[in-house]
Amino acid sequence: EDDLELVHLTKRYGDTVAVRDINHVFNKGTYVCLLGPSGCGKSTTLRMIAGHEDVSDGSILLQGQDIAHLPPAKRGTAMMFQSYALFPHLSVRDNVAFSLRMKGEDRATRHRAADEMLELVDMGHLAARLPAQLSGGQQQRVALARALVTKPRVLLLDEPLSALDPFLRIRVRAELKRLQRELGITFIHVTHGQDEALALADEIVVMNNAVIEQAGHPRDVFAAP
Ligand code: ADP
Ligand code: ADP
Repeated sequence: EDDLELVHLTKRYGDTVAVRDINHVFNKGTYVCLLGPSGCGKSTTLRMIAGHEDVSDGSILLQGQDIAHLPPAKRGTAMMFQSYALFPHLSVRDNVAFSLRMKGEDRATRHRAADEMLELVDMGHLAARLPAQLSGGQQQRVALARALVTKPRVLLLDEPLSALDPFLRIRVRAELKRLQRELGITFIHVTHGQDEALALADEIVVMNNAVIEQAGHPRDVFAAP
């Protein structure tokens, strides 16, 4: 019942069908990696779940409620973006607190929640800095805190590690896995990397040509035929 369920989910752009009638249940608290060739519909699926893209058909159920037509901030989902895309003129703390402003929380509450999240990603000591004064990995942690501060049930990640160097990628990867265990929320992570998927995923969903081609335990999905 705490699951996220996609039911006959479809997205058309004119004559292009980007996502064609997909059906899937994401179990609460699982780390799901979404794999597949470029253009197969991964980002579109994520953006529909997050509410950054309208659905053409079908529904998105979270705990049994259809969230497909709710505004992004009211869905219980949050998205972390590949490009850090932090607001350059806002401090780290204000960047993280920003999404709570949309929810109408007062200033003291926003700052308390932001600081708590920054502690969680080990960035509390840098809360007063501007994004430009941070390393790439640190900026990525702030982006993560910004997504998590709204206390989403489902965290959506669109290639969150691809801009990082290999060393940092492994560190942030471990961080993501730790947060999944600690927070018990569902992660849906789009990636090109099979190694990344193997390291992170409880379940792998493979898309191809706008449909879900395969889903299952990493061991089974990557098993030689
Ligand atoms: P992936 O994330 O797997 O690379 P996308 O979801 O970005 O794939 O794209 C799926 C298909 O939808 C592609 O054919 C892409 O060209 C098309 N598409 C994505 N976004 C748009 C858009 N805003 N307008 C028109 N076509 C789009
Ligand atoms: P689209 O391709 O439809 O623009 P995006 O997911 O890129 O879809 O963006 C959807 C909305 O989210 C846009 O209003 C955009 O300005 C906003 N957005 C995109 N990236 C970020 C980000 N890193 N932080 C905050 N808002 C963002």
